[in-house]
Amino acid sequence: MRQSYASIDLSALMQNLRLLKGAAPHSDSLAVVKADAYGNGAVEIAKHIAPEVNMLAVAMLDEAIPLREAGINLPILVLQGPHQASELSATDAYNLHWMIHNKHQLEWLEQHQASKQNAIDNLGARLWLKFDTGMHRLGFDIDDFDTVLHNHRHLTNSSTVIATHLACADEQDRTHTDQQISRFLQGVKNAGMRLSVANSAGALAHASAQQDINRIGIALYGSSPFDTSHSTFGVNDSIGLKAVMTLTAKIIGLRTIPKGDTVGYGGTWTASKPSTIATVAIGYADGYPRHAPNGTPAICRGQRIKLVGRVSMDMLTFDVSELDDVALYDEVELWGKQLPINEIARFVGTIGYELMTRISARVPRRYT
Ligand code: PLP
Repeated sequence: MRQSYASIDLSALMQNLRLLKGAAPHSDSLAVVKADAYGNGAVEIAKHIAPEVNMLAVAMLDEAIPLREAGINLPILVLQGPHQASELSATDAYNLHWMIHNKHQLEWLEQHQASKQNAIDNLGARLWLKFDTGMHRLGFDIDDFDTVLHNHRHLTNSSTVIATHLACADEQDRTHTDQQISRFLQGVKNAGMRLSVANSAGALAHASAQQDINRIGIALYGSSPFDTSHSTFGVNDSIGLKAVMTLTAKIIGLRTIPKGDTVGYGGTWTASKPSTIATVAIGYADGYPRHAPNGTPAICRGQRIKLVGRVSMDMLTFDVSELDDVALYDEVELWGKQLPINEIARFVGTIGYELMTRISARVPRRYT
């Protein structure tokens, strides 16, 4: 009987997917389920959304195999592409599509395809070519588009996808994104191939990023991709996204301490008056961030409470003095339905993506 768990709301997932599809009705939807579907459980999430998306994406081959073994049949794009030539032999068996972004990967494809025995069935339709338009992380330079395509035209066909990734689509200042999109569209000109530009923020805020296929991650899971200072899209409610993960843990210790006493390792919080302290059964080994400062909020009995003292490995402590009533084994929501994950992210100096993906395997996921 775990005293901490992550509830995963599958109907919220579907509402988010439909909202995203409604925002980009002319684009196909690829659901990004890498990193265990951002911590929500890749197999369960993929099974649930499979009937309503066109494709899935993971970061590397190792993440694709469990999905196939769980019986998921949708095509899967491997976003980092093969890391060695031998990975390509999994292409047909696992129905994989590859994001190709460097010259070695092109060579491996050439070699693989050159051997009749190893040739990949319909290679062109399984390739995504990634071009760098300003993210400067992965991809061929967009200025080399014609050369790359010309030199490898026997690998590609009209079903090959040409992709780029946006660096700043979540920001209110559109300059960088507009530049990336126009470099991309000018670069690919009339290549006559399928195009993919948008991530969640691109799909929601940049109409020109909505090309043939949108690659949607964080928004599916109900966390706004936008900076909370974004005037249009600052909080989840203004977009209509619904939290998929709600992280909950129970109170397993309750005590009153006198004014002047401190709480936890290092005594980093001092009671300014007699205070009721609740010890909650979740800690940094579960993925709750150790550096969450005093004052980080949570919800108990529908009211806000504040973190006090250092987060321990398996526990953390809240000042619950302001609650009308509180009892051992009451539930505390760390983030989710009542408390947007981005609010916690702001306290901790990170983003919802990191908080969600770091919830460790020892926290059971409960699907509702
Ligand atoms: N496309 C690529 C290449 C990615 O790496 C990611 C995630 O990092 C996504 C799409 C999805 O991005 P988001 O979760 O912001 O929608």
